Amino acid sequence: MKFKSKLFFSFSTKLILVFILLLSISSLITGLTAYLVARNELNRKGSQVLKNSVVQALDLIESEHERFISANYSLDALQEHIKEILMGPLDPQLGTRTLHHRIDLGANGYFIIYNSKGDEIMHPTLEGQNVIDVTSFDDDERFLVQDQIDAGKSGGGFTYYSWMLPHSTRIARKISYSQYYEPWDWIVVATAYEIDFNRGAAVILLAIVITMLLLILSVSFLIVKFIRGVTTPIYKIVDGFGKVAVNKLEAVENNLRRDEIGMLVDGYNHMISALQEAESNIADKEDYIKFLAFHDDLTGLPNRHGIEEHISGRIKTGCNTAYMVQADIWGLKIINSALGYKQGDMLLQVIGEYFLKSDNSDLYLARTSSNEFTMWVENRNHKEISDLVYDLRKSVKEYINKSGYGRLVNMHLAMTTYPLDGSTFSELYEKTCIALKTAKDENSLKLKEYHDDFKENIENELSMRKYLTKALEEDEIRAFYQAQMDITTGTVAGVEALARWESKELGYVPPSIFIPAISSQNLVNEFSIYMIDKVLGDYSALKQKYNDDISVSINISPSYFMDKGFLDNLNTRLKKYSIPAEKLTLEITEDVFISDIDKINSIISQLHNMGVRISIDDFGTGYSSLNYLTKMNFDEMKIDKSFINKIIEEPKSMELFKVLCQIAEIYDYEIVAEGVETELQLDMIKTTPLKIVQGYLFSKPEPLQ
Ligand code: C2E
Ligand code: MG
Ligand code: MG
Repeated sequence: MKFKSKLFFSFSTKLILVFILLLSISSLITGLTAYLVARNELNRKGSQVLKNSVVQALDLIESEHERFISANYSLDALQEHIKEILMGPLDPQLGTRTLHHRIDLGANGYFIIYNSKGDEIMHPTLEGQNVIDVTSFDDDERFLVQDQIDAGKSGGGFTYYSWMLPHSTRIARKISYSQYYEPWDWIVVATAYEIDFNRGAAVILLAIVITMLLLILSVSFLIVKFIRGVTTPIYKIVDGFGKVAVNKLEAVENNLRRDEIGMLVDGYNHMISALQEAESNIADKEDYIKFLAFHDDLTGLPNRHGIEEHISGRIKTGCNTAYMVQADIWGLKIINSALGYKQGDMLLQVIGEYFLKSDNSDLYLARTSSNEFTMWVENRNHKEISDLVYDLRKSVKEYINKSGYGRLVNMHLAMTTYPLDGSTFSELYEKTCIALKTAKDENSLKLKEYHDDFKENIENELSMRKYLTKALEEDEIRAFYQAQMDITTGTVAGVEALARWESKELGYVPPSIFIPAISSQNLVNEFSIYMIDKVLGDYSALKQKYNDDISVSINISPSYFMDKGFLDNLNTRLKKYSIPAEKLTLEITEDVFISDIDKINSIISQLHNMGVRISIDDFGTGYSSLNYLTKMNFDEMKIDKSFINKIIEEPKSMELFKVLCQIAEIYDYEIVAEGVETELQLDMIKTTPLKIVQGYLFSKPEPLQ
């Protein structure tokens, strides 16, 4: 984003304009008010002067009139005498009078005398003429002489009108005051231009305007100076931000102000120095960040991005046949769950340490996921590659052995060949992962070379998930029951529930296929709840079919056994179907022992508190250890079919079988023989204290109905 630092109207310009506007408006209002007040006052004074002069003129006329009566003067001479006083002598040639009266009526004011008919008795220029029809200059319907006569006759009054200024063509406002002197039929009028009275007001207005202009100028100057002091640092900061936007970090010169602006400058400079510091820190850490992006921080080995960059680079430069090998650390899960994650991390660090030490330039190795390492090997032929990989595994195991984990750890191995299996990193990586998954699924410790069939298998697995989900939703899986005979009484002591799936799309799918698929597709919880519901729902029908004392065994996957919802779910369902808990046996295989022993014991004791029995299924095939038998509190041990098969042919197996029965007696375990198919096997079993037998000899798993 571009930082905008251009302003249309700067802050200072706006502030100055606002100040000037406010000052001008206030000056105008003050000036106009003063002017109007002064003008009115002067006009009022002027009018008073006019009125007073008319009164004085009438006093003069009155006294002269009395003189005329007593002294026997000619009226004409007397009247002429008065006209000379009020205006000036008559120029006999021009018929005009000179204005030099002694009463002050302003620069252009003078007296006029009319008779009631509108004849000019005295006038500077129009004496002797009749002016009754003269109108005002601004309004030709206003007969101003008539108005003056009317005002005079009605006891005296003012008349306002417009007339031309002397020696000019300009029209100006005039005021006149008239009063009537009846004995001579004289209307005496004093008339003057308003402007002669209120010229002072205009002077005042001018003075105010000039003062205000000077004020505006000086205030503006001060404002500009003040605002510059404020805005200059702000502009510098704005400019600075513009530079920050293009990664230029420059401090602003400090103007040493101790106010908010000073604080702003300090704050900005502080920010710039913090940014400069951060920038140098980032530069320092950039290498480390780059390292982290391409390396695994636990082992210090390259990570997936690291090996991807390496392989892509090698392919680009045109390398010869090469191999991508993946190793999956088998046993890491056991270490994590049995000994804790720290121990698991330490194991990985030990492996990383081993590879970092070995300096084989033909081999590039990375940790590509939690327990998976990927290698890129060049300059070896096909035979050499497997030797190298097996040797490597051997030495890693030996190395780990020294750290104490050796016996627990092994590696599944898989590989692809460049360019045979792919020409890019991702193609090769995807196929190596597929080969590794196949090796893991088959639990094979041989180096698994990629084959296109593997991909197909995985795709099949994906559609398997779809079918299994549908099977659970549409109730395709059913419970079959296989009897467990008490050979001492010849009665059915219990039944084992075994899942059977008749798929609409796939047909009959045996448990050996779908049970592992359920766990690989993470459907164990759904499936376990489904089966518990089915079997407990069948219980009353089982009682009817066999006997009231019948007990039922359900197989529970180790992962569901360890699930936090397991106990609650089971409890709710036992109540829901009102089954006596002691009639329920849960069969778990020895795989469960790889989990935390304390946790298993706590689950077992909670199941015992509920009354539920626990059986160890397929005993003798997995991690079986006498140690577990002593540490855990089971109720039943089911000897696996593979063991039973051997008791006829191998005398040692029969001996071992007898020992197991003794151990079971010591620990007070019920012991069950699984997969008994022949009378011969039964006869051998009958020589031991074992009572419960399950196998085709008595019955196959069958539906309830
Ligand atoms: P398992 O629990 O050991 O079940 C006994 C298996 O031995 C059953 O195989 C049963 O049909 C078979 N069997 C019993 N007597 C004989 C015999 O005389 N001869 C032979 N050849 N086989 C006999 P199935 O039903 O195929 O089940 C295989 C395994 O699948 C079961 O072994 C169990 O581990 C698992 N499974 C079956 N149903 C369930 C289930 O509902 N939940 C869980 N979690 N696992 C189940
Ligand atoms: Mg079983
Ligand atoms: Mg079994």
